[in-house]
Amino acid sequence: MTDPVPAGPSPDEVLAELRALQAADLPTHGGRTLAYVYDSGLAEADALGREALALFASSNGLDPTAFPSLLRMENDLVALAAGLLDGPAGAVGSVTSGGTESILLAVLAARKGASHVDHPSMVLPSSAHAAFHKAAAYLGVRPVVVDVDPGTLRADPRAMASAVDQTTVLVVASAPSYAHGVVDPVADIAALAAARGVRCHVDACIGGWVLPFLGDVPPWTFAVDGVTSISVDLHKYAYTPKGVSLLLHRDTGLRRGHLFASAAWPGYTMLNSTMQSTRSGGPLAAAWAVSRHLGTAGYARLAARARTATLEVTGAVRELEGLRVVAEPDSTLLALATDGSCDVFTIADEMLARGWYVQPQMAFGDVPPTLHLTFSAATAASVPELVEALRDATAAARAAGPARVDPGLAGTLGGLDAATLDDAAFAGLLGAAGLAGEDGGLALPERMAPVNALLDACPAELREELLVGVLDRLSRPTGTATSGRAPEA
Ligand SMILES: *Cc1c(COP(=O)(O)O)cnc(C)c1O
Repeated sequence: MTDPVPAGPSPDEVLAELRALQAADLPTHGGRTLAYVYDSGLAEADALGREALALFASSNGLDPTAFPSLLRMENDLVALAAGLLDGPAGAVGSVTSGGTESILLAVLAARKGASHVDHPSMVLPSSAHAAFHKAAAYLGVRPVVVDVDPGTLRADPRAMASAVDQTTVLVVASAPSYAHGVVDPVADIAALAAARGVRCHVDACIGGWVLPFLGDVPPWTFAVDGVTSISVDLHKYAYTPKGVSLLLHRDTGLRRGHLFASAAWPGYTMLNSTMQSTRSGGPLAAAWAVSRHLGTAGYARLAARARTATLEVTGAVRELEGLRVVAEPDSTLLALATDGSCDVFTIADEMLARGWYVQPQMAFGDVPPTLHLTFSAATAASVPELVEALRDATAAARAAGPARVDPGLAGTLGGLDAATLDDAAFAGLLGAAGLAGEDGGLALPERMAPVNALLDACPAELREELLVGVLDRLSRPTGTATSGRAPEA
């Protein structure tokens, strides 16, 4: 008889624990979570993705010769994406863990490709995803941020052209921007980059698997001369499990800067195309399986569903007192602001109480705080309910009036400096805001509007510092030493 190693609860008991933990999460399916998750509404496609994920969960993309299946799937996915995005013959790509990694690698490749530039910089529209600021911080490429056009919220190519200088190694456009859902004038931006011999990255992380199926979008793919790389996330609108994105380059020379080898140690010669070394085959296999099952025709139908839902809700909001559409949606994202009779943070709370998650976005430049809605195909089935919830939530927020920041607290905040905020000051602030939990920890309230209004009132650097403090306090080992630890035998 073999030794029964397990000394903890049975698999069934552990799974029950996991399900209990998951009960507190936002639902990933059902189409009522309008950020973070993407739901095709197709149970079979989901089941296929999960099975493929499990099938390859232990396979390792570290060595493509050891797991040729993964290399084959990666090359298949790149070919599929290159077809969708008008990649020319010679286009190449790599599978990454997500949009942020794709963007980090695009910035890295651009920096490496311009190694003669001493203090490299990149020109970003102010609407560019925060991942570019992360790339800047990680890779030492200075971000030169250019305001978007205040009317359309699209990048302003003229202003971007004036921002390009000797240090520029990359110019960025979004298709579309996450916050406002508008597609930048990629042709103009790529042309200005090409005229100066600078690379142009199109961030299509969210739109890359939707826009190709919608009519009426100005050119933004490799069909545009001067576009050198494109990022597209499969774990968004390809409706596959989390952990897959693609970074495509127009040619293999452009990719060279993020291929990495090291023989400077006694083990195997490390050879990687991405930031990861050990790379689970699971997300890749899931993306391969789901995209094969749905096919481009299936994605076209799903894109049409999500687009229809977006347009229907956009139209309904125009009739809704208190809310307004911030920018005409170019794809399947919508940003909403209020008319001042109420605030978006209270509406978000009211929506959550009605079973819908919409994502609050803080004021930025001249744009007031907004609600972000990402439409999945699955949301199309319940547009009337969504509109109803928006109407009721906005009415409730109007009845309550705009969330106000406690004047005492506002005074405390005004006296804080992001550069000198220490732990004691932060703890004091948490106490004053009623957010202090046990053991110096953090107690998140049921309703987030007062906290969001407070954060919205903070300068950006202070908000960053405060939220890092929040993350630090949230990320502490749980004090359940007895339940998780194996009994001493
Ligand atoms: C989601 C997104 C990213 C970042 O992708 P992650 O997968 O969250 O790392 C970058 N750019 C845009 C436009 C996005 O929507």
